[in-house]
Amino acid sequence: MRIEAERKLDFDDVLIRPKRSGLKSRAEVDLRRTFKTPHAKIEISGVPIIAANMDSVGTLKMAEALGKHEIFTSLHKHYALDDLKKAGINGDFTFITFGIDDLNKIDTVMNALKSNSVNKICLDVANGYTETFVDFIQEVRKHHPNKIIMAGNVATADMTEALILAGADIVKVGIGPGSACMTRAMTGIGYPQLSSVIECADAAHGLGGLMCADGGCKMPGDVAKAFGAGADFVMLGGMFAGHTESLSEEQIKNLAKNDNMIEYYGMSSEEAMNKYSGGVAKHRASEGRVVKVEYKGDVKDTVRDILGGIRSACTYVGASSLKQLSKRTTFVVKT
Ligand code: 5GP
Repeated sequence: MRIEAERKLDFDDVLIRPKRSGLKSRAEVDLRRTFKTPHAKIEISGVPIIAANMDSVGTLKMAEALGKHEIFTSLHKHYALDDLKKAGINGDFTFITFGIDDLNKIDTVMNALKSNSVNKICLDVANGYTETFVDFIQEVRKHHPNKIIMAGNVATADMTEALILAGADIVKVGIGPGSACMTRAMTGIGYPQLSSVIECADAAHGLGGLMCADGGCKMPGDVAKAFGAGADFVMLGGMFAGHTESLSEEQIKNLAKNDNMIEYYGMSSEEAMNKYSGGVAKHRASEGRVVKVEYKGDVKDTVRDILGGIRSACTYVGASSLKQLSKRTTFVVKT
């Protein structure tokens, strides 16, 4: 047994210190970014926020709405191929999500969506530390040398490097910080998210790779902190839950009956496993929970709040673009 006694931080433990700024208005701040991917060797451009691949967040309607703001969506993995084909997906801003799946399935889906220029794959597992997952990324990379692959989740620098070396362009970082996540409580495993982002961004950038901070953002200020800490992308679940675009017709019909409250659940929760895997397998426990969120209307208003908050953060530290935010960020630890 070993103890690492150095203090690790969560978003709530810090604030970004304001700095002298020459910017006249937050409207001057450019939130778009363009990254070159290390393996696929193609560019990815947009506002680098991604709606999480949860079935109550990463929906086709959400992708359509967020795409208009050049924001990305990682579609949840439970769509039938026919639904994906019919949807006319905007490939510029959409990731197609898979677990450790049959490689043939990935080939079939990605080939079927080629005509929409869909070229982004998200490989999502709860525990990205297994050799099986690393081998799987290598195989997917061999089959899809020119597609952008985002893979995770991990929380430490060593494993961020391992996933990039295996073929991931973007590593998804976050074990335990999610709003519907029970991993820390059920297993004792985790890593404070702000420190994780700082350490994994450094590791990814050292190899020419990219990283996505996934989980733990509750307010626009947390998103600004994640970018300030070095994240290239930030993935949001709870902040995008409870909108018109993420609700089923049934939920919309029952809004008044449920006092405008929506149930949003983790993808490893008992609810999700009952829906998609025929129940919780004997050897496992639920590592997700149901969270009630108030209906928030159309997602465009939330987008305005999030982007407004980040623009304002940039103005406070004198960053004229999102790219400059991490260079201009000094965190102060709250006492
Ligand atoms: P949020 O933005 O809501 O704080 O976090 C979203 C992230 O939580 C997702 O992208 C995913 O990585 C993680 N997540 C979603 N469902 C579950 C779950 O059931 N259990 C755990 N441990 N994490 C989850």
